[in-house]
Amino acid sequence: MKAIIVGAGIGGLSAGLALRRIGWDVTIYERVTEVRPVGAAISVWSNGVKCLNYLGLRDEVAAMGGRMDHMAYIDGLTDETMTQFSFAPLVEEVGQRPYPVSRAELQMMLMRVFGSESLHLGRKVTGVAQDGDTVTATFEDGSTDTADMLIGADGAHSVVRTHVLGQKAERRYAGYVNWNGLVPISADLAPDDQWTVFLGEGKRVSLMPISDGRFYFFFDTPEAAGLSVDRGEFKATLRSHFAGWAEPVQTLIERLDPATTNRVEIHDIDPFHTWVKGRIALLGDSAHNTTPDIGQGGCMALEDAVVLAIQLQTNTLGVEDALKRYQNRRSERAADLVLRARKRCDVTHAKDEARTRAWYDELRKEDGTNIIRGIVANIAGNPLD
Ligand SMILES: Cc1cc2nc3c(=O)[nH]c(=O)nc-3n(C[C@H](O)[C@H](O)[C@H](O)COP(=O)(O)OP(=O)(O)OC[C@H]3O[C@@H](n4cnc5c(N)ncnc54)[C@H](O)[C@@H]3O)c2cc1C
Repeated sequence: MKAIIVGAGIGGLSAGLALRRIGWDVTIYERVTEVRPVGAAISVWSNGVKCLNYLGLRDEVAAMGGRMDHMAYIDGLTDETMTQFSFAPLVEEVGQRPYPVSRAELQMMLMRVFGSESLHLGRKVTGVAQDGDTVTATFEDGSTDTADMLIGADGAHSVVRTHVLGQKAERRYAGYVNWNGLVPISADLAPDDQWTVFLGEGKRVSLMPISDGRFYFFFDTPEAAGLSVDRGEFKATLRSHFAGWAEPVQTLIERLDPATTNRVEIHDIDPFHTWVKGRIALLGDSAHNTTPDIGQGGCMALEDAVVLAIQLQTNTLGVEDALKRYQNRRSERAADLVLRARKRCDVTHAKDEARTRAWYDELRKEDGTNIIRGIVANIAGNPLD
């Protein structure tokens, strides 16, 4: 059986590997000629790591993962520690460490393992169709390819989604901009084995250790959509957003390289439950576009890939039946996580200032138990529990 996958992001590549493991002949088409991920890094929480382990990539992901043994929330204005705790109870409860990783390294690893023979870059899909048991992808240059199944892993602006839903899905601006990149680990920024988050004024500054002595940093700044900020103004803009903030935040702004810093306006899409039309299915951000506030978008794409393969392998009533089962297994969980992330986003970014102030007060009384409980709740319900 042959599958066409549209898109070579985390979702498309992991689905390619998962389908190949169950004997499918997989071809991936990717529109760009050089895959350059938009973010510097990504936290692969334990559910995502379990999926990579399941795909046979246990050593690869462990090698690129940072050691995140602790977490701390710091008052961004005073540098006072609000709460600091160990992640050991989290790891013990879910059975797997989370790994913050370089996004480019994760992407490159998945591409290397999938191999270049069946991965075609510079091939933009402009339309998809089904006729009987055959699906067809049409490319920008008018050429086509056919298969027994097509997976739309073509991200937040998916063309396959428009086919499956019969209409375009509206993206919703979440009200903030995320600035992210990598800097060398150094003690004047944060401890090297800790996820450190500075909070204040509905803004957030985060430092997570990844491999090879690097911190993945990000700043969240609530602001209007559509502002154009020149790279040359990145530092000045961040300085003004974080005027009066603690020394490590100022040091981070001075140390970051604007040339490799990403500025992303954060959006999501209202959850929907139609992921499948006949032999054409959605996977990853095309099926569930979330804000990154609980770090689960990529992890969900990995979960989708595993469930897709399990449903196709274990159900024998045909591809359409297995895809419906995949959709039914995945869409409730994904919707739940998209809405959790949206709720977290609103509290973190002071959509209601009183609620955010109350959260800061709660953190000052927190010993980690409630935060770990929240993270475990996101991980629980994954297909490999
Ligand atoms: C700032 C930020 C931080 C994040 N942090 C985390 C995190 O910590 N943890 C986490 O799990 N997730 C995180 N996410 C979410 C995560 O990045 C996404 O959920 C994940 O990358 C989705 O992968 P995907 O393969 O579905 O889509 P994408 O990565 O968008 O890949 C889609 C691919 O399809 C290609 N494509 C699109 N259209 C076509 C076409 N017509 N023809 C051919 N190819 C096409 C694109 O070029 C692209 O390569 C974050 C997201 C952002 C924005």
